[in-house]
Amino acid sequence: MPHRTALILLGLIIVGVIAGVLAGWYAGPRMEAVAWLGALFLNALKMTIIPLILSAVITGVASLGDVRKLGRVGTITIGYYACTTAIAVAIGLLMVNLIQPGSGISLGEGPIPEGVAAKGEMGIDDILLSLVSPNLVNAAAEGQLLPLIVFAILFSATLTTLGDKGQPVLAFFEGVNEAMMKLVVWIMYLAPVGIFALIAARLGQTGGGEAFLGEVSAVGWHVVTVLSGLALHFGVLLLILFFITGRGWDYLFTMLRALLTAFGTASSSATLPLTMECVRENGIDPRAVRFVLPLGSTINMDGTALYESAAAMFIAQAYGISLGLEQQALIFVTATLAAIGAAGIPEAGLVTLVIVLNAVGLPLEGVGLLLAVDWFLDRFRTSINVWGDSVGAAVLARFLPNNPS
Ligand code: ASP
Repeated sequence: MPHRTALILLGLIIVGVIAGVLAGWYAGPRMEAVAWLGALFLNALKMTIIPLILSAVITGVASLGDVRKLGRVGTITIGYYACTTAIAVAIGLLMVNLIQPGSGISLGEGPIPEGVAAKGEMGIDDILLSLVSPNLVNAAAEGQLLPLIVFAILFSATLTTLGDKGQPVLAFFEGVNEAMMKLVVWIMYLAPVGIFALIAARLGQTGGGEAFLGEVSAVGWHVVTVLSGLALHFGVLLLILFFITGRGWDYLFTMLRALLTAFGTASSSATLPLTMECVRENGIDPRAVRFVLPLGSTINMDGTALYESAAAMFIAQAYGISLGLEQQALIFVTATLAAIGAAGIPEAGLVTLVIVLNAVGLPLEGVGLLLAVDWFLDRFRTSINVWGDSVGAAVLARFLPNNPS
């Protein structure tokens, strides 16, 4: 997208966010009338995801060369994701221990929220199982993207061993990828209106500004803890970006369209097409855009990981259960895994929080306390998830074989 057009679009998206907040705040539930506009934007983004991920990962992996190089890049990528996610969880634990958001809150014996009850038995083995699906079409239809990525990696690695026979297939996916990226740019023009509608309708649904403030104030310190933790992690990622790549505010500025879309949609999967386009505009090696970003958008969720650790500790404090170092270490490990297992869809983090609560034996009813504000915090953690992926692409591009930079 030309620089000038991108700037104008960013300006319009910012206007869309502000107008959405104001409209939802003052007009309340009446703004639900524009919800369909937001859904239209979201659907347009989502319709590109499956062909985009398939074509991007297949061409991205093939361009890395032989399978051994893929192994090296894959190991570095996963190692990097694990490190940044661990930093995020540590920040979450640190902030809760400092602020103590749950002390002084007393919890009633409420019912276990529906979506959470359904996942009540969820454990770590479910995350490992979710990597491979016996039915790809089913998995994709249900929005599970990880099995699709695992398939695309294996398929592409196999293609590269076929020599000339594999070339037409790769050329086909190359064409699909180019076409999808072009389509994404067109869909991007819908972003200002779509983001406006998504925010206005969701805020309006809570009953407007005053009702929203009432909900936030009930768990005010929890909100402060999560938001300050996310802000800190944002800064840490910016520093990592600066020290490893020398890039900084310029990189962030180009990413803003994707970050605001993440805020509007609360879905890092739906934002993926825009994340790819913005990282591409930032001049990052296309191989990183195609391989690292789709993988990151499904398994690298720093914001979610931070949230999971902070939320579990908050629930413990609110129930008056004090957790020692050992149990906090357990939260550290399970929050990291729960974030990997969370899909890039709205409020997925709240559901996988069950894994963390089960592991340390905390009451699942506690999730009920977080429900009212989760949609709001979700938007911030999704933006940090997308920021984490964007920084990851720039950093990991440096470690690709024959990197030109
Ligand atoms: N909504 C987040 C995402 O799409 C996941 C979460 O609920 O934390 O990245």
